[in-house]
Amino acid sequence: MARDPKHDILFQPIQIGPKTLRNRFYQVPHCIGAGSDKPGFQAAHRSLKGEGGWAAMNTEYCSIHPESDDTMRLSARIWDEGDVRNLRAMTDEIHKYGALAGIEMWYGGAHAPCLESRCTPRGPSQYASEFETLSYCKEMDLAEIAMVQQYYVDAAYRARDAGFDIVYVYGAHSYLPLQFLNPYYNKRTDKYGGSLENRARFWIETLEKVRKAVGSDCAIATRFAVDTIYGPEQIEIEVDGMKFVEMADPLVDLWDVDVGDIAEWGEDAGPSRFYQQGHQVPWTRFVKQVSKKPVLGVGRYTDPEKMTEIVTKGFADIIGAARPSIADPFLPKKIEEGRYDDIRVCIGCNVCISRWEIGGPPMICTQNATAGEEYRRGWHPEKFPKAQTKDSVLVVGAGPSGAEAARVLMERGYTVHLYDKAEKIGGHLNSVVTLPGLGEWGYHRDYRETQIAKLIKKNKDCVLALGQKPMTADAVLQYGAEKVIIATGSSWNTDGTNCLTHAPIPGVDASLPDQLTPEQVLEGKKPIGKRVVLLTSDTYFMAPSLAEKLATAGHEVTIVSGTHLANYMHFTLEYPNMMRRLHELGVKEIGHHFCSRVERGRLEVYNIWGDGSKRSYRGPGVSPRDANKSHRWVEFDSLVLVTGRHSDNALYNELKSREAEWAQNGVKGVYVIGDAEIPRLIADATFSGHRIAREIDAATPQYPLPYKREVAVWGAAHMPGGEFKIEYKV
Ligand code: ADP
Ligand code: SF4
Repeated sequence: MARDPKHDILFQPIQIGPKTLRNRFYQVPHCIGAGSDKPGFQAAHRSLKGEGGWAAMNTEYCSIHPESDDTMRLSARIWDEGDVRNLRAMTDEIHKYGALAGIEMWYGGAHAPCLESRCTPRGPSQYASEFETLSYCKEMDLAEIAMVQQYYVDAAYRARDAGFDIVYVYGAHSYLPLQFLNPYYNKRTDKYGGSLENRARFWIETLEKVRKAVGSDCAIATRFAVDTIYGPEQIEIEVDGMKFVEMADPLVDLWDVDVGDIAEWGEDAGPSRFYQQGHQVPWTRFVKQVSKKPVLGVGRYTDPEKMTEIVTKGFADIIGAARPSIADPFLPKKIEEGRYDDIRVCIGCNVCISRWEIGGPPMICTQNATAGEEYRRGWHPEKFPKAQTKDSVLVVGAGPSGAEAARVLMERGYTVHLYDKAEKIGGHLNSVVTLPGLGEWGYHRDYRETQIAKLIKKNKDCVLALGQKPMTADAVLQYGAEKVIIATGSSWNTDGTNCLTHAPIPGVDASLPDQLTPEQVLEGKKPIGKRVVLLTSDTYFMAPSLAEKLATAGHEVTIVSGTHLANYMHFTLEYPNMMRRLHELGVKEIGHHFCSRVERGRLEVYNIWGDGSKRSYRGPGVSPRDANKSHRWVEFDSLVLVTGRHSDNALYNELKSREAEWAQNGVKGVYVIGDAEIPRLIADATFSGHRIAREIDAATPQYPLPYKREVAVWGAAHMPGGEFKIEYKV
């Protein structure tokens, strides 16, 4: 199918300084956990997008000097010749696809705590970071300003030597240039503080110096948060924002604009729970009114219609994307070829970001299980190794893990039967997407539904069997499949079992009329009373989402939480707005409390810290701490139990216990994946399905094959020598 001609505009080249972007698809800088320490990962992840049609790919934030060290998070670094060499692997690979490579030169000020380098971060004034714990910076004197500007220049030379085409002076997300511009940080009274002209001076001078150094070889880009979204106290687009663009415009070849700051950078990388595609346009659209240079903006653009509108309406010239390029590295190619229904649409869950926020393990993606696995596992998102046997595979459970396993096995050419008692592919996601704001998570299911339907059309031996009788062990053994994958998922605990006591809670029983699991709430069959208590020790989205849903429906909701409520949502950047939403709805929280027992209409709660700060040995049978006397009763009409999950593994366990019967039934192997193995993130369940499908012909498919590690080895060269190679298993 050819693409719609109205999308042609997205494929027009555009000049940025001395370089040409071959089209309007641009992977903005984003973290992946590779930096310059894992050159193979870095090179493979970025260059793959070149193969997928993107015109440019950037590093993540790339430190220019040890004074900007973000350990325990993982940034790239361009401190020395070693970094130049490692990053060259990335630029060389990108250039093979005719795309451009960009580097986001970064100096963090107090937001980079220098835990590894133990250097002193410097800033416009001394302030304590609102983002990083216990991190201050030193106010620069004039000599130090010149010194830090020289760091940018030296780094720019190294970047050019590493083969970068686009060199950024990065000033979004409250990093150094924006700290000078923003009076929230800049309290100076000399020529670098006060008036806009003075506050802009550091940034403008740095751009001038970097441009003078490498501007004839490289395009000079700057990333600018044109509105920090805090109102008149800080940067507002129609006040300082547009004026700064006008001032710096002659020095810039490419404007990469966004909104927000670092403490709440979820206002930029907006989760779909709160923000739709293009949510930054009301702010960033002003930039084109004052700039004569190409402008790019981000906003989780996955829809070619929306992208086309952005360009034709003159809101931006180039479509910037981080998450859409992770979820589908082949997004431009698929649009170019008119393969719109093959696009793996980013669901906006921010799980990719969560890994960087946790501290730099490789990025993962809910939609794209191959993200981060390009180099170390040799996984290509669009190419699959051919089936090595003629074994047929039965997959029981069409949730995220089962559907992904079936899809990849079908891609490989296996004959697959995907079987579920439910009427629809998607498993637990089908109810999760009905929670407030989570509708876009349904793209995960939709992608697999569409692809499986297409693959079944190609291979008539493959079957999608939905709305079936629950599969039993007898039925599996008699089914006639050689390999069986059990993907039966998990359920919320009905007896209060939780991560604090590892035991049921006396009196908790979801079969009673006034107690409900999340599934029961979502099913909507059990009546729910006015006063709802939601008991939780889970730390992700279910408790706050149900609280929002029930409070919106008019219930009085109190959350009793024994763990940090919604803690994981800090990492997905959903936390601040989630808390604002619960506040708006009048949801109450009894924090640091858990439940000791439940009676009809009331639960006994206790302060989890109520058992005395001193411990002493008091003999066997006696707690070394004081008795917790903080217990009190809280009344409810309905009690919702978000205490924890358990794997639905009865089918797998029975099949395992009947291993002696496998051979006589022609069964060669039975495996368990996804939440049925352990309850985890949807991204993990998807990965688990993807992995087993790729490794089904290995000796022990249940257990992952080793992957390539990029580590320093004592006594050996730091990295393998010889020719650099990315090897996809196809
Ligand atoms: P995961 O996240 O691991 O993919 P889900 O809980 O989302 O798991 O999906 C599990 C799927 O398995 C659900 O669609 C459910 O209907 C299905 N399922 C569970 N047990 C059986 C069974 N015995 N027979 C058929 N389908 C089952
Ligand atoms: Fe999009 Fe979620 Fe994948 Fe991130 S993890 S790219 S937000 S689908």
